[in-house]
Amino acid sequence: MFVNTVILGAGAAGMMCAAHAGGDCLVVDHAKSPGEKIRISGGGRSNFTNLDVIPENYLSQNPHFCKSALARYSQWDFISLVDRHGIAWHEKTLGQLFCDGSAKQIVAMLVEELTQAGAQLWLKTSVENLRYEGGHYQLTLLRDGSPQRVSCANLVLATGGKSIPKMGATGLAYDIARQFDLPLIDTRPGLVPFTFPEGRFTALAGTALPARLSNSRANFDEALLFTHRGLSGPAVLQLSSYWHEGEAITVNLIPQTDLFTLLRDQRQAQGRRALTTEIARHLPGRLVDFLTAEFAITGRLADQSDAALQALCHALQSWQLTPGGSEGYRTAEVTLGGIDTDALSSKTMQAKSQPGLFAIGEAVDVTGWLGGYNFQWAWASGHAAGQAIAAGNAAGNATGA
Ligand SMILES: Cc1cc2nc3c(=O)[nH]c(=O)nc-3n(C[C@H](O)[C@H](O)[C@H](O)COP(=O)(O)OP(=O)(O)OC[C@H]3O[C@@H](n4cnc5c(N)ncnc54)[C@H](O)[C@@H]3O)c2cc1C
Repeated sequence: MFVNTVILGAGAAGMMCAAHAGGDCLVVDHAKSPGEKIRISGGGRSNFTNLDVIPENYLSQNPHFCKSALARYSQWDFISLVDRHGIAWHEKTLGQLFCDGSAKQIVAMLVEELTQAGAQLWLKTSVENLRYEGGHYQLTLLRDGSPQRVSCANLVLATGGKSIPKMGATGLAYDIARQFDLPLIDTRPGLVPFTFPEGRFTALAGTALPARLSNSRANFDEALLFTHRGLSGPAVLQLSSYWHEGEAITVNLIPQTDLFTLLRDQRQAQGRRALTTEIARHLPGRLVDFLTAEFAITGRLADQSDAALQALCHALQSWQLTPGGSEGYRTAEVTLGGIDTDALSSKTMQAKSQPGLFAIGEAVDVTGWLGGYNFQWAWASGHAAGQAIAAGNAAGNATGA
């Protein structure tokens, strides 16, 4: 069988690409259902985009690469698509948009879009073999156990990253990239909780508070959550994408306050108050108990010298912690690194050195912050490749090729 385009991966980017690739397109996925990560995203309501998308929300060896695709398919384009399908949504926080109902509505919308565009969807289908011969990609697929030979002019790699292997994530896009000599940037888990030696934060498990987490590369003011394994919550997930094994992070537990001035004023006004009582006005009780032991906090406010108060402020606002590691691909929301953007056109997502080969979505070395940015990259890069393929079809038809 010959089709113009085979898209490997019926996830966010692959389905978006199929919706724009102009028909004669086959989308292949080894899963039973398309868009599984969309379905479970945002606690089942999918944080499908963000009102404020700028290139600075993305990590990549080439921070400029994402600009073209994001500019040509913006959050507003996706919002109008969602609106056209009558899917109700709301802003939760920090510009993050979620479905009022279910993330399944987004999956159904994309399936409808690709079907209307004339694309076929083969689920429970794996790639057994792939060759490039005579200007075409020759694939041997195993569909529901039976082998199928398919050749195509365009092959789109949209199988995502390595995150959550239990959900069917594989390194297929990277393997095919290697097969065609496309360079790869080392991959590592992103948007992932930090782990600490067993027992370090057990007493605090479940405690959450607003905090500022930082290192030399980035800082985030969002919620921090202590867990049995270590640290989680949005602030941690965000910083994890900027963290490397063995590095320390800085935790500011009381970020919005000039704590030293406040404590000095309170020493004057409430000198008999226990220091722990004063701190408990700013932090959850269980955390105060923990910190009291951690930093040997004792005495009344009146007993504290300026130097002692400064040391306490430093402990609470510049707490240095070195994670033992991260929870890894098992729970990471994304994979950092991937197919080197140097090998791709930022306009079309096509490989510069290999005709008809495209890479989109998380497989590419572009990774967004938490907050709907990763889906927006999947939509935008899928749209860019789809449009380029459709334009190629139109040009081919016009010249009778
Ligand atoms: C728990 C969780 C929650 C998330 N929540 C959000 C969120 O709310 N907002 C946000 O912006 N981002 C979120 N993300 C990130 C987002 O899901 C991804 O960035 C996005 O799905 C990437 O799109 P993609 O199309 O590149 O890859 P995917 O959506 O992962 O799609 C890849 C597809 O390829 C298929 N595939 C993989 N290997 C093979 C193979 N060997 N053969 C055939 N098919 C294969 C998979 O089955 C899958 O259908 C979340 C991720 C996780 C894990």
